[in-house]
Amino acid sequence: MDIMYKSTRSDSEKVTASEAILKGLAEDGGLFVPDSIPALSVPLSKLSEMDYQETAYEVMKLFFSDFTEDELKACIRGAYDSKFDTDEIVPVVEKDGVYYLELFHGKTIAFKDMALSILPFLMTTAAKKNGVKNEIVILTATSGDTGKAALAGFADVEGTSIVVFYPKDGVSPIQKRQMVTQKGANTHVIGITGNFDDAQTGVKNMFHSKELADRMAQKGYQFSSANSINIGRLVPQIVYYVYAYGRLLKQGAVAEGETVQVVVPTGNFGNILAAYYAKNMGLPIETLFCASNENKVLFDFFQTGKYDRKREFILTSSPSMDILISSNLERLIYRIAGEDADKTRALMDALSESGEYGITDEMREKLDCFRGGFASEEQTFETIRRVHDATGYVLDPHTAVAASVYYGQAAATGKKTLIASTASPYKFTRSVMEAMDKKYSGMDDFALVDELNRLSGVKIPEAIEEIRTAPVLHNQVCETEEMQAAVEQIFGL
Ligand SMILES: *Cc1c(COP(=O)(O)O)cnc(C)c1O
Repeated sequence: MDIMYKSTRSDSEKVTASEAILKGLAEDGGLFVPDSIPALSVPLSKLSEMDYQETAYEVMKLFFSDFTEDELKACIRGAYDSKFDTDEIVPVVEKDGVYYLELFHGKTIAFKDMALSILPFLMTTAAKKNGVKNEIVILTATSGDTGKAALAGFADVEGTSIVVFYPKDGVSPIQKRQMVTQKGANTHVIGITGNFDDAQTGVKNMFHSKELADRMAQKGYQFSSANSINIGRLVPQIVYYVYAYGRLLKQGAVAEGETVQVVVPTGNFGNILAAYYAKNMGLPIETLFCASNENKVLFDFFQTGKYDRKREFILTSSPSMDILISSNLERLIYRIAGEDADKTRALMDALSESGEYGITDEMREKLDCFRGGFASEEQTFETIRRVHDATGYVLDPHTAVAASVYYGQAAATGKKTLIASTASPYKFTRSVMEAMDKKYSGMDDFALVDELNRLSGVKIPEAIEEIRTAPVLHNQVCETEEMQAAVEQIFGL
């Protein structure tokens, strides 16, 4: 059966998967959701025999049902290849009785690579299928990791351009260097004076502007999104949960059908939503722990049923989770509202008008598979030290937020647990090393990289080696209000 996509905010628009990928966001400002969540069509026992690419095909064919087998397999082959520094693509490693799903073996050493390696293939295939002649302009706001992963994915991809906005004081030194050294004639990287939510709002406003879209179209351009609101990012993220369950089976860590729990360090709610979709497909996940840093708007939401963004925005050592508006939560709200677009739209309107909304008791009951947790900066650093002391394994601060929630809450259930490990510690070397020992705080970033190498024994990733000497190619900075003007200038409007 073909899966179609509709908006979370109205019932008017129904599009195919490839159209949803091209558009990114629905015309009414809602997010595209599948009209049903398909069940896994392979028995669990088979998962342990399937490699990453095979698993990817089994999952994606169900959601991207208007792609042919050849098209989809070509996208998967193009994405999950030697760009990853391990044949397994996503190793599942056990440390101290818990399983880390290492999602950081791609080109930019963060989990965003899992989806952004394949999105350019999906997008260009979708353009071909739909007879699109315009050049596709990827417009992206980033809290650090999406930007680089999207740039790496789309650099020099024919028929596309990419513009990335990042908060100039809100990303790690290594994240920033990764972005400003990006090669590719079709890449544009701009720092803004605001924070990530400002960047995301600026990008959303451009998406919603019919007037801007018309002027872009006159010049032969159309926007699309590489942010995690694009269904072409969400679906590839379901794959690794399914794959991980197969690895646990293969390692004999779980019996077939045995339920597991996942702990996911969360910002925009994309990664954990993918786990929820996997559960809805029939993967035996019992509980999903949503781990936040000090920007704990989601923790409070799961605790109280009230989403309240009206609070101070805190810069933490896990910048990719410094978010107060978790866009993908809208897809969960839609589901617990009984797939009611009017209800969802009313709540989202309340969020943008008054900065908060509350859900009904009936909706809250449907959240019983979720638990909220959070870690303070001190708990995060303590967890990095503790896991290293106990096992020699070094966590990045995002993963450490999740590990802290694991030790604080999840471990007590005794269930087998998967922690989504979302970045290599090398991407956040300064925070990691300072967490280990204050004595490192005076050293420069690349000296710290060498220290981390000595401490962890983990090879320095290519992504870090290459930026040591790479020249800065992007140094534009603008005010938040000037984001649209910057885009107009790039495309000669
Ligand atoms: C993006 C990101 C997250 C948060 O993922 P969401 O899908 O936005 O919830 C966590 N950790 C790292 C390292 C990331 O890059």
